Amino acid sequence: MADYKLLIDGELCEAASGETFATYNPGKGEKIADLPKAGREDAVRAIEAGRRTFDSGVWSGLSGPERAEKLRAIAKLITDNAGMLAELESLDSGGTIRKATFADIPGAAGAFEWFATCAETQSDRGDLPPAVFPQSENYLLYEPLGVCTGVIPWNFPFIMLSWKIAPALAAGNVSILKPASLTSITALKLGELIAEADILPPGVLQILSGPGGTVGEELASNPMVDKVAFTGSTEVGRRIMQLASGTVKPVTLELGGKSANIVLDDADLDTAAAGVLFGTFFHGGQVCESGTRALVQRGIYDEFVNLLVEKTGKLVLGDQLDWASDIGPLVDRSQAETTERYVKLGRDEVGDPLCGGGYPEGLAEGLDPQAFFQPTIFSNVPNSAKIAQEEIFGPVLCVIPFDTDAEAIAIANDSIYGLAGGVQSTNLERAQDVASKMRTGTVWINDYHMISPDKPFGGYKQSGIGRELGTKGFDIYRQAKHIHVNPEGAGRANHAQYSALSGEI
Ligand code: NAP
Ligand code: MG
Repeated sequence: MADYKLLIDGELCEAASGETFATYNPGKGEKIADLPKAGREDAVRAIEAGRRTFDSGVWSGLSGPERAEKLRAIAKLITDNAGMLAELESLDSGGTIRKATFADIPGAAGAFEWFATCAETQSDRGDLPPAVFPQSENYLLYEPLGVCTGVIPWNFPFIMLSWKIAPALAAGNVSILKPASLTSITALKLGELIAEADILPPGVLQILSGPGGTVGEELASNPMVDKVAFTGSTEVGRRIMQLASGTVKPVTLELGGKSANIVLDDADLDTAAAGVLFGTFFHGGQVCESGTRALVQRGIYDEFVNLLVEKTGKLVLGDQLDWASDIGPLVDRSQAETTERYVKLGRDEVGDPLCGGGYPEGLAEGLDPQAFFQPTIFSNVPNSAKIAQEEIFGPVLCVIPFDTDAEAIAIANDSIYGLAGGVQSTNLERAQDVASKMRTGTVWINDYHMISPDKPFGGYKQSGIGRELGTKGFDIYRQAKHIHVNPEGAGRANHAQYSALSGEI
């Protein structure tokens, strides 16, 4: 028996096969719970229930304000259970309790609130300009897409679920979510809370923990699914696109990144250094939009790099549930091994890092040092180096010198990715000019990681397709149907005046 349950068709249940899989606290390598291991059979059952539910109109037929009320009830449920959810999220993912408490749980509640606002304020009817020819009155009807699925990664399990579920439900769709296998607990817990509070009709929201290769593939390919939204690696993103193409499903993809944080020579160095470290080492670098390439102007380069190293020395690695920890374990040992592999490569490519570079020593008893990695800084990295081009998803910063603003922009744009970036400068005009030339979905000026539910987020190039959040992130869950009305009636139909087909009919 699993310790948590799937949510399918309004029922909290085991996987059809009865199989389970274990989830761990990565910091201590201890098992936390057994979770139900859904398979294709469960995914198909959920998709069929979703289809029935959507077609019944029990959810899509509600008004925007009626749906908003339900989404706000979910936001309240999250807020009422914030402490418990933050602890579970931290324990299961390795993210610090500070991250879970101040970013993850309120961030998810905020997304449900924001999309509730969208459901209330974004009309389901849109105006079109007056037609000159053919004579007609025209307008748009916005309609939900249908059965929307979401497949999410392990780095922000709770926020990511809110980004998939909230806009889909707000726009009148039904939603089926598959969390990452390493971090499925909080999604299952939310399913349980929502089912017990009886907030939604059965089948409107379904949650399945299980492997990407079976459950994920079914959710991306089943003909009854109308849209798939995916966050994760670029490699799996390509696979999702391929699977969705069989029935031409719209996809939203939020993929990898190698973002540049540009430090101009007029920046406030102390604030900028702290910002660059926050931009890179927050959550151990396991953030898709991390500013893992710091581009620093030559005139301030040495002073700035010294500041980076000095401040990095103050970061505390430790138990993720300890409020004193700045950085917890990575999501598992294999993520730490990947980081180590890239650091070895970096040593070959550019020499020893200025700090870090290995597993930490002297952690508190009971912690597994091989699940942690020291924050590591490589200096004078050529942008062509693999460590500057490939996503590492661990605490590794590449510092790259530049001379002119134009050179900084060229280096920033020399990447297959384009998810985010930063510009640090006291000259806001200069900073905005640089930002405007970066080929990337978000640029933070004198800030980093400031994502909020009411502002769109997404990538250029191989960082993805589409924008989540904001009103754009609501519209990707709606069809725009054009209605054309000939006000003159059947006798004066425009087609009667065309002779393109035949004058005879
Ligand atoms: P991942 O391996 O791509 O997995 C993401 C999700 O896809 C998981 O739920 C996974 O399930 C599932 N999956 C795996 N193979 C699948 C398949 N063949 N078909 C359908 N689903 C499949 O990524 P990850 O390792 O969890 O996360 C790290 C990556 O995500 C990084 O590269 C990072 O850049 C990216 N990321 C991007 C963003 C963004 O907003 N752009 C945000 C977060 C993370 P299992 O867990 O069962 O394997
Ligand atoms: Mg875990």
